[in-house]
Amino acid sequence: MKLYNSLIDEVNQILSENKSRELATLHDPCWEMLAKNELILAKQSAFELGADGLPSTSTSLVTTEAGVIEKDEITLIGADLCDIKADSPFARIMLIHIDDVGEDSVAYKAVRDMEYVKYDVIPRGYMQRTSFMEFREQVRVSKDAVNGGISFSNIGSAYIAKLKENPKVKHVHIIFITDAISRFDDLRRIAVKVDGVTKTLNHVLTEMDFDCKTCALKSICDEVEGLRELHFKNKK
Ligand code: SF4
Repeated sequence: MKLYNSLIDEVNQILSENKSRELATLHDPCWEMLAKNELILAKQSAFELGADGLPSTSTSLVTTEAGVIEKDEITLIGADLCDIKADSPFARIMLIHIDDVGEDSVAYKAVRDMEYVKYDVIPRGYMQRTSFMEFREQVRVSKDAVNGGISFSNIGSAYIAKLKENPKVKHVHIIFITDAISRFDDLRRIAVKVDGVTKTLNHVLTEMDFDCKTCALKSICDEVEGLRELHFKNKK
């Protein structure tokens, strides 16, 4: 599946335009993970990421093409959790290399499975809230967690470990952003487009209406190589 490859290229381009650093990928996240969501009250909070109108987005992009994502990696643009002193912008972008899953319907399920992993990563002192409609992700970080030394190395390693419980997952590159980079709007646009491609993928696998002229998804098929071919392949 290469449907998201051009968007992965765009993410990498944005990454290359900003000062970033690679964080340690830990075999064990070295941070307590909870079974259920934890409520962190405002008075317990050290700061929030991506809240109250600050730039915020998250998305996951999947490819089966070898060489696009070559190793497990955690990249940070901006300050790490222990160094943040006030509410900040936030982005979490995951680039995921999976085995060629063959059948297209299996590919669609694999993409959705990758997205839902975020509900299974619940670090202590790190309360995540996602708005699907707005493509935003907010995090409230507790004072206790900051005092205990929580870092994006812990959080990123937890995501990588959870994703790699799925044997189809080969490599994960997770990118955290806490700086107000100039291309935040482009990242959000990419998140919207990823969602559009995934919805179109579902459509081409299930819908028997093949009239491109009246189809609401035409703009996505015009832009993303492979979707139209996939739909008409299903017609045969
Ligand atoms: S191939 Fe045509 S009909 Fe099918 S989803 Fe794309 S635009 Fe719609």
